[in-house]
Amino acid sequence: MADKIQSIRGMNDILPDESPAWQYIEATLRQLMFSYDYKEIRFPVLEKTALFKRSIGEVTDIVEKEMYTFDDRNGDSLTLRPEGTAACVRAGIQNGLLVNQQQRLWYMGPMFRHERPQKGRYRQFHQMGAEVYGMDGPDIDAELICMTARLWKTLGLSESVTLQINSLGTPTSREIYRGMLTTYLEDNKSLLDEDSLRRLQSNPLRILDSKNPAMQAMIEKAPRLMDHLDDESKEHFAQLCTYLDSVGIAYEINTRLVRGLDYYTKTVFEWVTDKLGAQGTICAGGRYDGLVKQLGGRDTRAVGFAMGIERLISLLNQDTLEKSYQRPHAVMLMMGEQAQNVGFALTEQLRDSIEGLRLVTVCGGGSFKSQMKRADKSQAEIALILGDNELDNNTITIKYLRAELEDKQFQQEQVSQQQLIDLLSLKV
Ligand code: ATP
Ligand code: MG
Repeated sequence: MADKIQSIRGMNDILPDESPAWQYIEATLRQLMFSYDYKEIRFPVLEKTALFKRSIGEVTDIVEKEMYTFDDRNGDSLTLRPEGTAACVRAGIQNGLLVNQQQRLWYMGPMFRHERPQKGRYRQFHQMGAEVYGMDGPDIDAELICMTARLWKTLGLSESVTLQINSLGTPTSREIYRGMLTTYLEDNKSLLDEDSLRRLQSNPLRILDSKNPAMQAMIEKAPRLMDHLDDESKEHFAQLCTYLDSVGIAYEINTRLVRGLDYYTKTVFEWVTDKLGAQGTICAGGRYDGLVKQLGGRDTRAVGFAMGIERLISLLNQDTLEKSYQRPHAVMLMMGEQAQNVGFALTEQLRDSIEGLRLVTVCGGGSFKSQMKRADKSQAEIALILGDNELDNNTITIKYLRAELEDKQFQQEQVSQQQLIDLLSLKV
């Protein structure tokens, strides 16, 4: 036997029994975006490497060690997108969507990061994200948070997630704070681990994000950006809190929340859960007012979020998963050659007459017993049986297969074709 070729580590197949949950989540997200009138944007999975380096930042986990970067046949350095925001901004600038306009956009699709695969952390994973351009107020920041809160409600997850928010200020106030923080960290240099020493000059704010227990006490005492915000950012943050209060969305102000990407300004937020171990962030976002200009566009305010679909799916409870699975309405069995000919055409007629009908045909014939076995496997609610007897009197036998759905299980009756259409129409 030839060697089996395996998939790439950390890149998963989504199998038929998992896809209903994916389709349910995707449909729910589409509906949510539709209801707030966000428009979908689709961009390529490959971009020029420079796009991500310039936007995400050279000294970030993603750019330092997680990108799938390679030279293509022309020798151009390309990268499989590790996230959507940079590509969304690139597409917005390139297609003239951002100048003097307001845009509410969303996207969904695979992202790629070369991380150590583990539960909730994969090398190909999926994100859904929303990005808004041309609006500078905290009202739009609050709208984005409301949308995500609504999603948790729809999915029955409100009790499983909590919201953390923070403000990173304007670039100017952040720069001043950065100086103060660096001084503090220099004074405590002996307590810094290797990673933090490396970041001390290049990205000191990220040190606040460290999970190293040995550094926690020192980090606790570090100066807080929240105490050194400029007035504009302070006002923006206070107003955001007022909006969240007004709709009853609970939040925790986490002054250490800095996010892993360089481009954030003012509002940042994360929805976290304690139900997924170390991979606890489900959705993360914030304002990135400087990025459009940094990528060559006109100065444009921007804010957005991205959520990890895999983590979302692993949070879903049994009820939601069951709701996401839709069984076929009916399965057609045909006994004998003549019944097969008549029945084949009848299945198409039923599909013509009843919009939304999910009907499975038992193909390949065989004994009643073997057809029933396949019919049962289809999970359909009702079996439609066509044999010599039914052909003679122009009827069809229906048999209820699911006890849990009808107390009519195993009951069977002969009905006319019109009665059948009426009955199935009630099911769709
Ligand atoms: P983490 O701290 O878990 O590495 P991150 O800060 O790198 O997350 P973002 O870049 O903000 O994550 O991406 C947004 C969301 O995408 C995350 O909150 C998470 O749900 C999901 N995500 C990120 N990386 C992965 C991955 N490798 N596998 C699965 N989901 C991921
Ligand atoms: Mg990460």
